Amino acid sequence: MPRAATVRPRTCSAALAGGVAAALLLTGCGGGSTTSPGGGDGVSVVASTDVWGSVASAVAGDAATVTSIITDPSADPHSYEANTRTQLELSRADVVVENGGGYDDFVQTMLKAADNPRVAVVDAVDVSGKAPAAGGELNEHVWYDVPTVRRVAAAVEAALAKAAPDDAATFAANAKAFDAQLATLEQTITTDAAATQGAPVAITEPVPGYLLGALGAVEKTPVAFSEAIEEDTDVPVDVLQETLALFSDRQVRALVYNEQTTGPQTERVLAAAKAAGIAVVPVTETLPEGEDYVTWMTGNVRAVAAALQP
Ligand SMILES: [Zn+2]
Repeated sequence: MPRAATVRPRTCSAALAGGVAAALLLTGCGGGSTTSPGGGDGVSVVASTDVWGSVASAVAGDAATVTSIITDPSADPHSYEANTRTQLELSRADVVVENGGGYDDFVQTMLKAADNPRVAVVDAVDVSGKAPAAGGELNEHVWYDVPTVRRVAAAVEAALAKAAPDDAATFAANAKAFDAQLATLEQTITTDAAATQGAPVAITEPVPGYLLGALGAVEKTPVAFSEAIEEDTDVPVDVLQETLALFSDRQVRALVYNEQTTGPQTERVLAAAKAAGIAVVPVTETLPEGEDYVTWMTGNVRAVAAALQP
């Protein structure tokens, strides 16, 4: 099971607080994968994470090159530090797919520094139309919301068709096929929700929030707990006790656990759930090896729904 670094800025913009010049000095951050089945001189798409890269690839097919920046399944994407390669990739992109919502601010920072007037940017949080819950923060993990992914795919199709009008029919056909797969996934969630409606659940981080919401599950974890984990601050003792009691008192059916943001406090929660015999469902922020968006999210839906059923 991956162990993420415990020191991390809230977003990558924090890492770039010193400006792009400083960012360009950052090295060794790794990342980056390119799928270019059709060769080198087509349209270039850069996605901030491999999840959005997979969505873009489904639409692009062989008619464009898709590069994903954040790809490490064992690191917390919130702590990603952009490097010179990221800058170069973004400066050459025709279409950029970013998550937005503070998740990958390095994209905007670097695009501003890049002299790339032709680039079209798709911002998934913008496309989602999601707003913060009353008094709360926006859950920026919008790729766990299938209707949002359908909209992002449509926006990618429009951007690709504009960048490469000759391939517009290909992009349209690919987008239509992908949308049909997403519609099936949405239908699966709707069907599963009949059995999971109202199911009490605990989380370590808001990552799977939209999926849990679509399944009708009720999050029992104190908001102060998951926010502290996501912000990488200490969980207050009383909040931790309240969270641990969810398991010892068997108040939840499952713990949905973000494998990419772990630390001593999430370890305690995981141990408490296991000790009480509560189902634990691991989820991630990036694509596991060998998966694409649809296979990955279908697996997530199956695992979460199975754990939440009475
Ligand atoms: Zn996250």
